[in-house]
Amino acid sequence: MYTCKFCEIKPVEGWIYNSTWCSDCRKMKHYINLYQDRVIEILDNILSRTEDKQDNKIKEELKNEIENKENILQLRSKKIQK
Ligand SMILES: [Zn+2]
Repeated sequence: MYTCKFCEIKPVEGWIYNSTWCSDCRKMKHYINLYQDRVIEILDNILSRTEDKQDNKIKEELKNEIENKENILQLRSKKIQK
């Protein structure tokens, strides 16, 4: 059994695609590919807090993101109506 080259904690599950990463690190790589700098931003903003403050920050972040998306949708529907 080999240890993941990224986290250096978890074992690599087999040698799928000649991987040297564990399944969790592979998953994180996928998120980084999809969301790029946003992933680092979220980790910096949230994990640097104590656990109770993390929950508040997560709620706040989600609220802002949902509001932004709602605003975009409203703008789009207004443009369509014109
Ligand atoms: Zn790992």
